[in-house]
Amino acid sequence: MSQDYSIPTYWESPYTKEFTTKITHVDKNNLQFDKTIFYPGGGGQLSDTGNISYLGSDFPVIQAFKDDSGIWHEVKNHNNTEFKIGDEVTLKLDWNRRYSFMRAHSSQHLLTNVLITMFECETTKANFNEGFVEIEVNKKLKVSKIIQAFKEVNKIINHGDDVLSVIVDQATFAKEYKSKTRGKDPKEDIVRLIQLGEEAYDIVGCGGIHVQNLSEIKGIILESVKGNLIKYYVDEQAFDFANKQRELMIELEEITEKKGEKLTEMVSNKIKDAESLLHGNVSLLKMIFTQIGIWSENVEGKSITLLELPEIDRQIIQSSAKELENDSFLALLGRNDILYILSSKEDLPADEIVKRFSVETGAKGGGSKTFSQVSTKNIDNPLSILKEVIKEF
Ligand SMILES: [Zn+2]
Repeated sequence: MSQDYSIPTYWESPYTKEFTTKITHVDKNNLQFDKTIFYPGGGGQLSDTGNISYLGSDFPVIQAFKDDSGIWHEVKNHNNTEFKIGDEVTLKLDWNRRYSFMRAHSSQHLLTNVLITMFECETTKANFNEGFVEIEVNKKLKVSKIIQAFKEVNKIINHGDDVLSVIVDQATFAKEYKSKTRGKDPKEDIVRLIQLGEEAYDIVGCGGIHVQNLSEIKGIILESVKGNLIKYYVDEQAFDFANKQRELMIELEEITEKKGEKLTEMVSNKIKDAESLLHGNVSLLKMIFTQIGIWSENVEGKSITLLELPEIDRQIIQSSAKELENDSFLALLGRNDILYILSSKEDLPADEIVKRFSVETGAKGGGSKTFSQVSTKNIDNPLSILKEVIKEF
């Protein structure tokens, strides 16, 4: 293979953290160098950051980016230094950040391979951050299956396969690699492939920066699954996250005195209990509503019903409201001291009553002609105040 092109230093030696080179182009605060260790971003991996040393001063590199002319480095020129073409500079990467991206990126190649092998599930998008990866897949997988895939990934990481960077021209690619490369065929003249394992169980065209051995990743831990979006943590961040989750679980286990699957069982039973209690309350209220007249009283010729049911909330009332007798007026003091007004009487519109009640008490509320509510917190005898309000209608 001919070597008449230059291989970026970040591909050739991804572990170079510091590098001395020369300035070749200057455009305001953007600089180009003879060679660079800064990855300009792309393929879901963010650009490197770091700094450069020039004439004894350090200048932060905010980002690196690529255009037709090459890779630019945006420098924070805090003292308006004049950068001169041909001068020497030393480039320094923010290594923790870069190394984190490398581990994240390599872990994604491996996970993608495992998801295909185990479940014929393709990765459609990937984003890398420090110790954190987000991928989108083409089908919804059960969490238990994703966990199965993660287990396999962690096994392979522990096994410690090599990650190889293969750089070939198009002719060699077509002849030797095309048939075993997953994903889209790279269109560039010079093709960069990332290969997992000596036996090459995964090959993909990729311009990103990778670790040399999968064992450097240490492990991955699932953060969340939402539809086709899978998020996970890598290396130390993964262990921190797992320990944090255990902390929450231990607290929950202490409160409930139940562990693991027993805890899940207990919570789902409690939710079922709460649901059946809710259904019970709704049925009970419906029954009351069909015979609301029984509890009615006469306030200056108007037949109204006042109830105090401190366990009843808005959801239950709304589910039962259509059972109310025609031409009725009901004021119900429910949970959290909220007073609900349900009215089908033309001369007693619920919203007007609440408005008048609010003027009288300073309470906050509102609603429609047929259904409105007002908070009666810190108000003594709200129902007798309400009666006085009704007398005015
Ligand atoms: Zn990649």
